[in-house]
Amino acid sequence: MADAPYIGRLAPSPTGRYHLGNLSTALLAQLRALRRGGRLIYRLEDLDGPREAAGSAAAIAVDLRWLGLDWSEGPDCGGPHGPYIQSQRLERYAAAVEQLEQSGDLYRCTCSRKEIAEVLSAPHGSFPASLLYPGTCRARREAGGDEPHALRFRAGGHVVLEDALAPAVAVDTGLDPGDAIVRRRDGCFAYHLAVVVDDLAMGVTEVVRGRDLLSSTALHKQIAAALGQPYPTTCHVPMVLDAAGQRLAKRDGAMGRPELEAVGYTPALLRGAFACLWGFADRLEAFSLAELATLWRDEPLRADALNLHPAMSSGPEALRLALSAR
Ligand code: GLU
Ligand code: ZN
Repeated sequence: MADAPYIGRLAPSPTGRYHLGNLSTALLAQLRALRRGGRLIYRLEDLDGPREAAGSAAAIAVDLRWLGLDWSEGPDCGGPHGPYIQSQRLERYAAAVEQLEQSGDLYRCTCSRKEIAEVLSAPHGSFPASLLYPGTCRARREAGGDEPHALRFRAGGHVVLEDALAPAVAVDTGLDPGDAIVRRRDGCFAYHLAVVVDDLAMGVTEVVRGRDLLSSTALHKQIAAALGQPYPTTCHVPMVLDAAGQRLAKRDGAMGRPELEAVGYTPALLRGAFACLWGFADRLEAFSLAELATLWRDEPLRADALNLHPAMSSGPEALRLALSAR
């Protein structure tokens, strides 16, 4: 049987401009699709209204196009799986919630943020740091009534993740991340639900995302199973680290496309810089997207290379110097 054509996706949240770490993940998703002879779908994950940063949705698309990324379906070009903006897909999430409620996979949670934080940090508690919710309402008899409540997914049990770039791991979703919210108390559908519904509905065959989302992926696989559908294959890529070994965050001044352009990067040079950052190249050269794709290796990206980021952020000359000093 021939493999289904490869369909990957870019799923930006418009909560701020893309920084170098986000650009790295998006570019790797593009390369992976190119290597597999496939294509990308672009989907805007804008369900978290209050966290939306004005103008960032448009800016992210502009920045990704500048870097040479290309998608065959998305808000700007349409396609058979639209709409490609999550706030326009609410009835699909409602239907999934209903299905999960019917199958007994959800329960009502009336805990406030404060109550949850108190239980998790109680001195004699033995909750792992990865746990986001202690399961307080799990066993509570359905309160009925119309007390405002969130809906949580009953997570738990080991999920084995086979990954294109990493050894298989088993994640106990009951401990990491725990029973996740699928619909918030205010009625908004949550990321963990919407991302699964859309990856399934849009025919995505592989999810490429950062390693920080590994346990989320395990949860997503479980939610997909509860919805009666197989989950795509996955490819978790390393995070770009700052000089202190922490993953980049916009609030720490991580650079985006305008800043990178200002220190001297053209799209081709920036692609070349990413090749060095990932350990695909030892010298800074200008690369087309196609050239970059030929360098892709189906093996874990070199972790020691990823901390070249401070030199990379200082501009092409600083990166050249850092590379020649190695
Ligand atoms: N909207 C999510 C983000 O930007 C997508 C992550 C993912 O599911 O890969 O972080
Ligand atoms: Zn609760």
